[in-house]
Amino acid sequence: MQAAYLRDELQEYLRAVREKVCSVCSERPPGGPPCLPLGKHCGIELHLDKIVEIVRRVHSEQLEPYGETLHREVCTFCPNRETYAECPCPMESLLELAVEAIEAVEAGKRSAQ
Ligand code: SF4
Ligand code: SF4
Repeated sequence: MQAAYLRDELQEYLRAVREKVCSVCSERPPGGPPCLPLGKHCGIELHLDKIVEIVRRVHSEQLEPYGETLHREVCTFCPNRETYAECPCPMESLLELAVEAIEAVEAGKRSAQ
């Protein structure tokens, strides 16, 4: 069950991810995003609620803690995973941009308080 803040606020994070991540994604199918209706099973789209929750919780200066937590809590249970070497999604290569996009939303919220 999603936390209430994720249900209510996920659209804001999704907009940031679309702008900063999907716009430069080399795996974006013609006409996407959204990519799932086009047959592209992307973790950034499918697991965005969990990715946002992890970024909020980890909040590190380094990328590694985000990556480790995502692998442990998202990729381990991902039904799309074949092998880590042949994942059918660009989450690995775009992780840094995704973290930056979500952290930027967080920074905006903090400065507005
Ligand atoms: S494949 Fe993923 S990261 Fe790329 S455009 Fe689609 S949803 Fe965005
Ligand atoms: S296991 Fe692979 S396909 Fe699934 S979210 Fe992680 S990187 Fe994407």
